[in-house]
Amino acid sequence: MKKGKKLYEGKAKIIYATNDKNLVIQYFKDDATAFNNQKKTTIEGKGVLNNRISEHILSNLSEVGIKNHLVKRINMREQLVKLVDIIPIEFIVRNIATGSLTKRLGIEEGTVLERPLIEYCLKDDKLGDPIISREHILTFNWLNEIQLDWIDENLSRLNDFLLGMFRGVRIKLVDFKVEFGFTHESEKNQIILADEISPDTCRLWDTLTDKKLDKDRFRKDLGDLIPAYTEVAKRLGILHEQSNVSVVNVTRLSSVKRKKK
Ligand code: 5GP
Repeated sequence: MKKGKKLYEGKAKIIYATNDKNLVIQYFKDDATAFNNQKKTTIEGKGVLNNRISEHILSNLSEVGIKNHLVKRINMREQLVKLVDIIPIEFIVRNIATGSLTKRLGIEEGTVLERPLIEYCLKDDKLGDPIISREHILTFNWLNEIQLDWIDENLSRLNDFLLGMFRGVRIKLVDFKVEFGFTHESEKNQIILADEISPDTCRLWDTLTDKKLDKDRFRKDLGDLIPAYTEVAKRLGILHEQSNVSVVNVTRLSSVKRKKK
């Protein structure tokens, strides 16, 4: 598979064309951003860990019939994925109240929700990704009713699957954000899950201690982001006895190799 020109650069990933018009390469950067890009840094090794964790989760989702863009992981930082037109909506599912939900509605931090709560945000950095209602989505034809119902049903299945997967490794799935897109393949207008599912896009708390094992370590200046993401990868059985140091070393090694070429 030949890597072509850069098609799009986002905050945490870059998309490159390939010689197959329906497939693209998704490159995971080490950049971390928060609060609508106001806080930025680079955390060496983050992209490598997110690539591995997201590959693990998305390939497990394929096995339970939740269609997604992943074709295969290519190397430490890249995945081959299906080209999609991303739907400009962030789909958020919450099991425990925290983050913007507590700020917006005054719900007490840590409240276990009686049932999972789905929220929609418009994917627009300039507007600060505002929360929108189902009626906005239908009124502005971002999706029709059948498509939105289908996504809601899949969000519910996805939440059940992820809750179980993380519970099995002593992690609470507090909330997460996912994105969907329309494929370009023969079955046109098919909606599939895209982007990534990783500690960058989920809130993950240790079951016993409530220690944060996700991007809130960066957002809240808690430090030790790489050890936390490594812990998630180890518990999921992705990184066996590899230490934090070895993830960073592999990153360094691959960048040295690239420079030598
Ligand atoms: P909140 O709305 O509380 O800030 O975020 C809810 C959930 O969605 C969290 O798991 C958070 O990580 C995720 N999320 C919301 N917006 C974004 C975003 O723009 N980027 C990333 N990586 N995650 C987001």
